[in-house]
Amino acid sequence: MGIIHKIVKKITQPIENNIRGKRGERKVDSALNPLIFGRVNHRQINNLILLDERGKSHQIDHVEIRENGIFCIETKNYKGYLFGDEFQDQWTQSLYNGEKHSLVNPIKQNKSHIYHLNRILGNKYKIHSVIVLVQNNAERMNIPYVINLNQLKDYLKNFNDGTHLTNDEMDEIEETLLSNATKMSNREHVKNIKQTQKELKKGICPRCGGKLVERDGEHGKFIGCSNYPKCKFTIKN
Ligand SMILES: [Zn+2]
Repeated sequence: MGIIHKIVKKITQPIENNIRGKRGERKVDSALNPLIFGRVNHRQINNLILLDERGKSHQIDHVEIRENGIFCIETKNYKGYLFGDEFQDQWTQSLYNGEKHSLVNPIKQNKSHIYHLNRILGNKYKIHSVIVLVQNNAERMNIPYVINLNQLKDYLKNFNDGTHLTNDEMDEIEETLLSNATKMSNREHVKNIKQTQKELKKGICPRCGGKLVERDGEHGKFIGCSNYPKCKFTIKN
């Protein structure tokens, strides 16, 4: 088995774990409003699916647009203890029965969501990443924007980086995003992700369609895109 195949297998399993988790999260999402977000002057888009230049779909749980900022919110319904930092490709989930699973790092996932939101909004705004753990097990993570569901309302309310959006601005942001939303169903989105995984397995870069190649780095071998430095896609071993 080639190294590309081996490394790709390592990252596609967590993606499958993520897809399976999604159903539970939606159920929670429907119970979120407006109790969880509070009764505030906001615009909110749930389950926004965007297509990128290459026809890849990206599903964003919530875009919360408020006077004090724009928040890209990823909810995760993971049980047990979670371990990981901002930069790892994967987090580890340790269940109470001792079982361990690899999960896609939601911070990285959300970074790519924000990239696409910025692209659509013309890089005019600062968009803030928030990872919400529905099982309220964020305390060991120690990352300020990885929070428990029961902290979300206060987190959003107290957020202050000096931004003040007017009603017109909030309307415009919402309309721009909605006009870029695809009508794709969740099922089609999952199909689209599986297609990306198939390409990965064939050694095709999911970001630009280039060829994935093996490289030697400071910390060992890794997979990078042959279109580097134009495309910075990498998978660490
Ligand atoms: Zn690439």
